[in-house]
Amino acid sequence: MASEDKPNERMYHRTASVGDSLYVWAGYQAGLPGVHDNTKKRRITSNIQHLSPSTGQWIARDTTGTPPLGVRAYCCIAINDQLYYFGGWCGHDNCYHNSVSQLDTVSLQWRELEPTNATRPVMRRANGGMISFEHDGVHHLLMIGGTGSKPAVKLQDYKYIKLRNGNWSTNEHSMYNISSRKWSNPSVIGQCIPPSSFFVIESIENTKAVLFGGMEIDDDKKTPTSNIYILEISISTVSWQCIKKPKGMDQWPMRRYWHAGAIIMTGSDCPMLVISGGWDINNDILNDCWVFNITQHSWIKLDVPHSVSKRFAHSLSVFIMSPHCVCMITVGGGDYNGPVADPNIVMLNKLVFNRNGQWTVGDMSNEEYQQQLQTEKRIQVFMLSLEEKEKKLQDMERKEAEKEREIRRYCLQLQSKESEKQEALQEKDREHQVVLQKKDRELQEKDRQLQKKDRELQKKDRQLQEKDRE
Ligand SMILES: [Zn+2]
Repeated sequence: MASEDKPNERMYHRTASVGDSLYVWAGYQAGLPGVHDNTKKRRITSNIQHLSPSTGQWIARDTTGTPPLGVRAYCCIAINDQLYYFGGWCGHDNCYHNSVSQLDTVSLQWRELEPTNATRPVMRRANGGMISFEHDGVHHLLMIGGTGSKPAVKLQDYKYIKLRNGNWSTNEHSMYNISSRKWSNPSVIGQCIPPSSFFVIESIENTKAVLFGGMEIDDDKKTPTSNIYILEISISTVSWQCIKKPKGMDQWPMRRYWHAGAIIMTGSDCPMLVISGGWDINNDILNDCWVFNITQHSWIKLDVPHSVSKRFAHSLSVFIMSPHCVCMITVGGGDYNGPVADPNIVMLNKLVFNRNGQWTVGDMSNEEYQQQLQTEKRIQVFMLSLEEKEKKLQDMERKEAEKEREIRRYCLQLQSKESEKQEALQEKDREHQVVLQKKDRELQEKDRQLQKKDRELQKKDRQLQEKDRE
């Protein structure tokens, strides 16, 4: 591993994946000034760390354009090969942002789609969540909740609570159309979160997401939660369902906030949410790792080393190696001594899902990661050729079926013509017989008349003979 390019100690960052590359930007780092804007802040935040899939190495890369100022506890997601950043905290006073920036991972150029604007009815905030969805071919960002500056407008449908330190907490839903660059606010139905921060939210389908944990605020009472929420998203509405820990259930992670999470999507299997660490209700650092089965609503605790899970304000990312094996990457975060230090800043773990529905956890060396990637690539190539062959076969089968259908159609036409012909013949036959019967009757009638005449003639003949004899 090129150690100079590996992410240094950092917290309050987010990671995003494009293809099988992982990107890490900003967050709290030693040396990054907690100011609104200066040359040093720009220099440090114009750099992004990238885990290169072909080499398994970290590469630090320079970006061009203007990076956003909200460098801590921002939201970040990837859409195709673009990264989108929303909000964040500058690192001084209560200076929060509501900017939207885009980083092109190919050109590594920043583009500010929306500058921070204190009068926009989108609360300037950090520590919330963001997901994206596609509607009619257009991508939208949906930002939910967070803590930040006093809102310019308190929108109906959402709650805003002022905290003792002067910050505000919200459950505001802000929707941003990336194409028209217009904001909107979906209405909320169901069991929506109260004003909340420091939770984990991840997409599980285009219009479906899962949220776990976080610090919920009700009437200035802060409560870390262990609730799961399932969200159904449309362009105008977000529908919420809350799943609470069932009574007497042990297999459920403790209430927490400032934890990290990622979605495991292994294709045919149902999606799963993996979470680790965070702060508990007593502000102690948790050191566990759990997987939530989104279909069955059940949790499994993973046997992950404390060096991996005992941290908060870190990030989790998951790469699928094969349908039953994923690579979990933990980056940064803090413990009781401050930011997690080397050699534990970046931890790679292999999670294997076995036939009994259980997970086993292993360390993953860099070599192993690369080997696994190579194997995975070979499998992918093999699967692709298999898919292609299957497609060809399906094509042939389709053509054959089409031909068979044509033949059947032709046969049916023949049959119908044949039966039409038969019917016509039968009809003619019937007509013929009627005519014949009529003629027959006429002939019989004539015959009778002839016999009658014959009898008359015989009678006349007899009379004539009698007369002759007289
Ligand atoms: Zn500032």
